[in-house]
Parts: sequence; structure tokens; C-alpha cells
Amino acid sequence: MARYRGSVCRLCRRETQKLYLKGDRCYSDKCAVERRAFPPGQHGQGRRGKASDYGLQLREKQKVKRMYGLAEKQFKLTYVKAARIKGVTGQNLLMLLELRLDNVAYRLGFASSRIQARHWVRHGHITINGKRVDIPSARLKVGDVVAVREKSREIAQIKASLEAVARRTVPSWLELDNANFSGSVKALPNREELTLPMQEQLIVELYSK
Ligand code: SF4
Repeated sequence: MARYRGSVCRLCRRETQKLYLKGDRCYSDKCAVERRAFPPGQHGQGRRGKASDYGLQLREKQKVKRMYGLAEKQFKLTYVKAARIKGVTGQNLLMLLELRLDNVAYRLGFASSRIQARHWVRHGHITINGKRVDIPSARLKVGDVVAVREKSREIAQIKASLEAVARRTVPSWLELDNANFSGSVKALPNREELTLPMQEQLIVELYSK
């Protein structure tokens, strides 16, 4: 699968919004969006005309895709699954993204960013219901318990992330057991708790063309 290997801060600058891709740095004054709140590149600061409907839809899709660290193909497949589920497709899409193992590991505070969470999963540091799972896209269900493998609990970065989790707050659909490096999925993700501005309807409009 093609992987983006450039600067992740550049992705935030392109969306002129913090996407929180770099952990601690995102909360500091070193954040590139804080320092240069305009798109990257030679014409980043130039005048831009009013974006077309297509332009707005495309930017919204790119933003959400980058926030969750998915490639286009994976993102589109997630959309297709969301469209098959009963209910509002845009909300279903966000629900499926939130229920990914790498996202839940991040939300529970086992990692300081989704990129780091994916790394922990790939390297076998995370378990679901006591079994090691190394697939970042594994989808969780209500009642699943996600934990840091016992052997991995000494990793300094995992400990530091858990200590800093208060800064991000764990969503109410998850329950963190900080002392045991574990957490469970209590309910399906709640749209209201996704505080970063996202207009999922624009993504649906884009893919429905
Ligand atoms: Fe984005 Fe974080 Fe970089 Fe700021 S520091 S631009 S929020 S990745």
C-alpha cells in the first residue's frame, strides 16, 4: 500500500487546521499551523479564489482521510461499508473510522498520535480481549477490551502517553482502566464527541457523484 512519507505537518497546513498527527508537538507552540497558518508551497500565501463545491468536498475528504491516516483506497472502502449500514452514511463513516483498533488505542491514550498507535499495533504491543492483534484496521465491537500487552507496559513512550491522556480526555463511549493499561468499548462512538470540525456530508456528496 502506498504510504505518505513526507512531512505530516504539511498535511495540516494544507487543510489550515490542526489534525493532531504528531503527538506532543501538536500541543506546543512549535506546531506548524500555529506558526504558519497558510497552505504550504510557493503560492500558499497568495490570493485564492472562492473554492468550488467540488473543491470544498475534496478538501473535507482529504482532511478526514489524513486525520485517520488512511490511504485513498482504504478510505473509499470504509465509505462503501458505511453506505451499506442502516442510518446516515456520513455518521456511519465516522463511526467505522473511530472503531478502528489504531484509533481506539490512540483515544485510550496508549499512544500520543494515531501514527504512533498504528506503530504499536503493527509491532504487536496491543491486544483485543487478551489476544495480540497486529492489524490497525481491526474493527472493535461494543464489549471488546483493548489493552497494552503485559510485556510492553514498560515502554516509556506508552507510559508517558497514558500520563498525558487527561489533556485529550477519553470519549465517553470508551472506559479507560489506567492502572491496568486497558480500556473497553462501552457503546458505539458518539458523533457529538468528535470535536474537530468535520462536515461528513461533504464527503458523502463527493463520493455520491
Ligand atoms: Fe499538525 Fe501537529 Fe504538526 Fe501542528 S504539530 S501541524 S497539529 S501535526
